[in-house]
Amino acid sequence: MNQTTKIINQAKKEGRKTLLEPEAKIICTEYGIPVTKFRVASNQMEASKYANEIGYPVVLKIVSPDIIHKSEVGGVIVNLKTPAEVTAGYSKILENVKKYKADAKIVGILIQEMAPNSTEVIVGAIKDPQFGQTVMFGLGGIFVEVLKDVNFRIAPLNVDDAKEMITELKAYPLLKGFRNTPPADIDALVGILCSTSRLVLDNPEIKELDLNPVLAYQKGAKTVDARIILE
Ligand code: ADP
Ligand code: MG
Repeated sequence: MNQTTKIINQAKKEGRKTLLEPEAKIICTEYGIPVTKFRVASNQMEASKYANEIGYPVVLKIVSPDIIHKSEVGGVIVNLKTPAEVTAGYSKILENVKKYKADAKIVGILIQEMAPNSTEVIVGAIKDPQFGQTVMFGLGGIFVEVLKDVNFRIAPLNVDDAKEMITELKAYPLLKGFRNTPPADIDALVGILCSTSRLVLDNPEIKELDLNPVLAYQKGAKTVDARIILE
């Protein structure tokens, strides 16, 4: 059995509808979607050991089935540059989370590679009651939230569908390169969209998938946050 099926079955067994970020990222990796390097630490010693292995700077995040929007509760700290900062960040996140929900179940703290700043895009999927698995693409931040500049296609997606979803965005000129922003690797984004389509079609129990954000680079792209919700 593949990792994806194992993870989904385990969540079902535990009665969880939301997969943890590390679980969602293992699934992404199995489908060829690039994600930041990561490990889950259970104590401060492990945290600094993993940070050394991954390489500084790192990002720390809470891993808890009780916390879906991690940064809203102070559960994400970015750009930690030394073992001392990692150790302090570890305690700070636990403290923030306890303030939010004293009895939150803590699986551990995710230590991950800090992805360099770049244009943020969003890849999503929803299971439409009428059309079935549907893939979404847009640019991050105001483009999605304020301007609703997003495109949808019903899965399965081929390379041409994926390209259209990208090039038909109003914000597409930003991805082609603009002023100080270099052009984004469109083929890498096309690859992520097609892989997402395969992922949700292979696993019909996925109700929602959210890669938010994916950082788009001149060469390649990297998913820094992944969320998967089951039916
Ligand atoms: P949330 O659950 O709040 O959506 P995220 O994992 O998306 O948490 O983290 C919040 C923000 O922190 C992201 O939108 C991104 O800007 C930044 N971030 C998170 N992880 C990384 C990373 N590995 N590298 C760079 N920036 C990151
Ligand atoms: Mg996020």
